[in-house]
Amino acid sequence: MKLFNSMTRQKDEFIPITPGEVKMYSCGPTVYNYFHIGNARPFIVFDLLRRYFEYRGYKVTFVQNFTDIDDKVINKANDEGVTYDVIADRYIKEYFVDAEGLGIRRASIHPRATETMDAIIDIVRKLIESGHAYATPEGDVYFRTKTFEDYGKLSHQPLEDLQAGARISVGERKEDPMDFAVWKAAKPGEPFWDAPWGKGRPGWHIECSAMVNKYLGETIDIHGGGLDLTFPHHENEIAQSECANGCTFAHYWVHNGFLTIDNEKMSKSKGNFFMVRDAAQAYGYETIRMFMLSAHYRTPLNYSEESLKMSKTSLERLYESRNNLEFRIEKAVGNETTAEEAEKLTALGAYKNKFIDAMDDDLNTADAMSAIFELVRDINAYTGAHQDATRAFLTAAHGLFMELTGVLGIAQKHDDTVDPEADRIEELIAQRQAAKKNKDFAEADRIRDLLLNDMGVLIKDTRQGTQWSRVSQ
Ligand code: AMP
Ligand code: ZN
Repeated sequence: MKLFNSMTRQKDEFIPITPGEVKMYSCGPTVYNYFHIGNARPFIVFDLLRRYFEYRGYKVTFVQNFTDIDDKVINKANDEGVTYDVIADRYIKEYFVDAEGLGIRRASIHPRATETMDAIIDIVRKLIESGHAYATPEGDVYFRTKTFEDYGKLSHQPLEDLQAGARISVGERKEDPMDFAVWKAAKPGEPFWDAPWGKGRPGWHIECSAMVNKYLGETIDIHGGGLDLTFPHHENEIAQSECANGCTFAHYWVHNGFLTIDNEKMSKSKGNFFMVRDAAQAYGYETIRMFMLSAHYRTPLNYSEESLKMSKTSLERLYESRNNLEFRIEKAVGNETTAEEAEKLTALGAYKNKFIDAMDDDLNTADAMSAIFELVRDINAYTGAHQDATRAFLTAAHGLFMELTGVLGIAQKHDDTVDPEADRIEELIAQRQAAKKNKDFAEADRIRDLLLNDMGVLIKDTRQGTQWSRVSQ
């Protein structure tokens, strides 16, 4: 498998540190609000990467943090007159609600900064002792950037450029403008933790370095995050970790491209964002996941109503095909495939190869998705032309469909429960049948649209009668 590595700026063959295992870390959210569609992109991308490694037989340990203490969390807590942990607890809970909706599996570990304080203090101490960091009389601790000669290697920026862009803000007592905070001395009224150099709280970058050390070790396979984190966040993580441990921090650096709106990066500071929660109300969570996977993870992806609608339609096509197979499996007989069917199944296997080739090529979900749609088209054509297809064939085709869509985490929803609106839906379908019989096609169409637009129910007329299914919720 090849992955584009921001460090080498090329697609590198993935070779794990331990054969058959993957240790990966991805920077998670700062928990002071719901997350927006832009934030959802890395969460979905790294969930996908993890799923794909697992599909290929790797044992994956995946860590994604929660930044639960920083200025934004503290400000929000002050606005509401509560303590920071009330805010953090609330939005961690809400993160899991949206993440589950989006089909993002829980990471192996979701550490919080405030629960990793021992490891944070430990690494800061190591850096001070080795001269890579220094405490000021006020109790701030800064990383001495010039002591790390590889600084800039990830973002490929010459040191002079970085130097020219660096500033010392009012109140900072840095030795050099390029130095950055690893520990911030406590300010009145703010939460703080005790450390040998004084009370305070960690800087943002240090928590990731400490968490990687604590949960994954000194060197990991993959470190991920959004493109905007390359500099300074990831550059600083590398400096801290490599100076503290004396070895390479991460072998592969994977960055997702931006989610844009009107071709501008979606961000909280610009105010041009949509919360996942609100978009899910309009289109369904799964449509958002489908939309994210429609493009390769490194290309910019523009959010628009039109593209969301297209993703919704695509997803409906997948469910329609799956529902059709399941409906047919119920009715079909034959526990063994015919010779013709066996041949067809072998031919269908080509789509799986195409899917794997696409995913092996730096997680090309756009091509992987095309392979799935080709599979679906082929299955539909075959089953349409072979109304007597055996249960064995239909089950195998269904299995292949579920296997590939399962890797992407789409079209997997199971509806074991009786739909609470089933009676009403059946009644509307009967009314539509009656309208059609009376040649009142306008009424028949009205009912069809009402089912789809107001109730999210897709209907399909087949030789076996009208089938219905819930779409993308
Ligand atoms: P934050 O909570 O702002 O620290 O961001 C969490 C994650 O979302 C980070 O990995 C960011 O790089 C990523 N991110 C933020 N905005 C966007 C965007 N518009 N497109 C893609 N990723 C983003
Ligand atoms: Zn990080």
